Amino acid sequence: MMLTKPKKLEIQDSPIPKFGKDEVLIRVKACGICGSDVHGYDGSSGRRVPPLIMGHEAAGLIEECGSDVVGFSKGDRVTFDSTVYCGHCRYCEKGQVNLCDNRMVLGVSCEDYRRHGAFAEFVSVPSHIIYKLPDSFPFEHAAMIEAVSVAVHAVGRISFSSGDKSLVVGAGMIGLLLIQAIRSAGCREIIAVDMDDDRLNLAKKLGATQVINSQEEDALSFILNETGGQGVDKSFEVVGATPTVQLSILAVRKGGSVVMVGNLAPEIELPLQSVVTREISLFGTCASAGEYPKCIELMANGSIQVDPLISAKASLEDGPEWFERLYGREPGLMKVILEP
Ligand SMILES: [Zn+2]
Ligand SMILES: [Zn+2]
Repeated sequence: MMLTKPKKLEIQDSPIPKFGKDEVLIRVKACGICGSDVHGYDGSSGRRVPPLIMGHEAAGLIEECGSDVVGFSKGDRVTFDSTVYCGHCRYCEKGQVNLCDNRMVLGVSCEDYRRHGAFAEFVSVPSHIIYKLPDSFPFEHAAMIEAVSVAVHAVGRISFSSGDKSLVVGAGMIGLLLIQAIRSAGCREIIAVDMDDDRLNLAKKLGATQVINSQEEDALSFILNETGGQGVDKSFEVVGATPTVQLSILAVRKGGSVVMVGNLAPEIELPLQSVVTREISLFGTCASAGEYPKCIELMANGSIQVDPLISAKASLEDGPEWFERLYGREPGLMKVILEP
């Protein structure tokens, strides 16, 4: 499924991707449509420059291994990290592979590089970013691991003490995964805020202990009221706009932490004095750094459920139409997974 010009996806025949000595050719079984693909395919992000095969949230079967590849063989069920990291820069050496100086994302093309992705029958990827899947692990769940890893990495930016209360502002897909990741990290009291009742109902099902529709009530007074005027211990901001960042800061207690995941707006208004005088710690978090095995485990043992977040599964041929529907912000859609 080739992006031939902005907003134009075409199903066409292309050669089977070449792969190097340390790379693996994968027969793609499932590939999720990411928000960054949907936003980027109109050309606005500068990271989906045509011609490009997008797709970086994928899983499938190994078709062929390069001559230097060890530990994998044809027929293995695998998934892979969306980020190709170099392994030798100062960040990679510290395990911060998400911050790699030479990072490339599969299915992305920009000024510096073009790396075809997995909206295709085959994709080639370096073997150091591949992970084996348990036999019973569905491919469509594996296509959700990237999203899960974003949530698990965000939670790993801080540590919880017993009795901590958390707040999640924004109960979209990542917010719903965060609620589950926070729970599995041992924090059992979680308040979720959103403007959509369907999402809030899902949040409750997936582990939120209290939900607030911020269109119907004042979320900040509710939270302060529920916490004896103190505020929560940790908050996670999953939108990236002034009102939601402000809420996630003002709703946290003195000395509390705010993990910032959302970045819809490049700049926002920060309640500086509240952060400074109450010694609030702000944590940025981006993508993931080696959390895939942990995510596979959390999903396999049921701690993190992704089925409720999958809106549709479709063929590659129907992909262009699903892109249009997602681009048009059709209500109720979360993850759409294409199965080439
Ligand atoms: Zn993605
Ligand atoms: Zn690196």
